[in-house]
Amino acid sequence: MAEEDTQVIVGLEVHCQLDTKSKLFCGCSTDYRSDGPNTHVCPICLGLPGAMPALNKRAIEYAMKVAKALNCEIVNESEFSRKNYFYPDLDKAYQITQYDKPLAEGGYLEIEGDAGGEKKIRLTRIHVEEDPGRLVHMGNVERGKYSLVDYNRAGVPLIEIVSEPDMRSPKEARKFLNKLRATLEYLSVFDSEKEGSLRVDANISIKGHERVEVKNITSYKGVEKALTFEVTRQKNLIRRGQRIERETRHFLEGRGVTQSARSKEQEHDYRYFPEPDLRPLRVKSWVDGIVLPELPDARRERFMAQYGCSLNHARTLTGDLKLANFFEKVVASDPKGLAPLASTWIADTLIGELNYRDMGLDPVDPESVAALVRLLKAGTITDKSGVEVLRVMLDQRLKKEKTETPDAIVARLGLTRTTGDTGAIAAAIEEAIGENPKALEDYRNGEGKALNFLVGQVMKKTRGKADPAELNRMLTEALKKKEA
Ligand SMILES: [Zn+2]
Repeated sequence: MAEEDTQVIVGLEVHCQLDTKSKLFCGCSTDYRSDGPNTHVCPICLGLPGAMPALNKRAIEYAMKVAKALNCEIVNESEFSRKNYFYPDLDKAYQITQYDKPLAEGGYLEIEGDAGGEKKIRLTRIHVEEDPGRLVHMGNVERGKYSLVDYNRAGVPLIEIVSEPDMRSPKEARKFLNKLRATLEYLSVFDSEKEGSLRVDANISIKGHERVEVKNITSYKGVEKALTFEVTRQKNLIRRGQRIERETRHFLEGRGVTQSARSKEQEHDYRYFPEPDLRPLRVKSWVDGIVLPELPDARRERFMAQYGCSLNHARTLTGDLKLANFFEKVVASDPKGLAPLASTWIADTLIGELNYRDMGLDPVDPESVAALVRLLKAGTITDKSGVEVLRVMLDQRLKKEKTETPDAIVARLGLTRTTGDTGAIAAAIEEAIGENPKALEDYRNGEGKALNFLVGQVMKKTRGKADPAELNRMLTEALKKKEA
């Protein structure tokens, strides 16, 4: 297959819960997750006869913030519509949403494209709607005896952000979502840690072939996985000369595969009509009053200018609001002095160690990381010991043990760099050479690898505490002597 025949085309529809205190059309609290089922409900969000919706001003303000941050055009007069369908999680048998007159149109979000550099992903529209309730299946969806309905979620404000089909790989889709999440969090309108606060429908096709919609993916990683599965599935069909059906599929998170939805589910006629209980939404006088905070791109540029971060480090650090705040706290006491080491130790080492432990940033305090960076900067410990200290710090927090300061860990484990303590290094060198006559011989025969091997042996004996430059110098001298 030629390259252009396998061009992947991805567009996303992202539903995000707006982090308001009350629901979109009533005063019920949106903070329902730790409460019993059907405890956050009232006649309005239950859709009882005669109940009238009243629009939540804060939700519209949040939606406009998002629209402005994503460079959309906010439409002065938008409209709510009823989307009619029957499903047990939809108590009213219609969802109040926006249809042909959404709040915002156009716009774009910049991501780091696969080809390198910034890439604009265009947006089609952003509209506001209410979340339906939740079905809780007893056992397997298909074979379980019954399902329970919880309307606590019914009426929680959502925005749906629809992108143009501008992404060219599952990886670009993941980057789009990460950037979107960061932007929403910088705006303080969204909490990505709340379970189910973001849901994605993904459209994916191979250029020249039919499009497939994968519905209701509920995790960030799930989107990339579902799309990767689809790319392989669709390319295999094409390779075998088979047709790709235009269809809706579900992503089975546990198995990492997509599965065709029964065709009936695809053929909806929603009979949209304007919501008679809500007036058109006019926002003109409001728009100019919407003030945006510093957003990820601006913060990334600032991190490079103010702290001298590399583009990659700045991108990583500002790609997550918590991490960006954390970094600034770590370097606060001495920005110029600490930033160069802190950016690589946080963006590379700390992130790596946290991911390895499947651990979040929350238990880690910036003061401790600042203390570790100071030890490294002063040359009190080597980089290798720094990693050891960091691991101890994280393990203590993960296991909820008593935590020690980095200085205390260094003292307890005796990790102070043995610079100047040439006696200890010299002894380790003699030992290493004595134990490895083959390496000595190889070195004499001009094999450069032998030197690296011996460096490793000495490092092991000094448990990583030896100053690397000093060790190298002393070892080379010792070997020269033996040659003579
Ligand atoms: Zn309610």
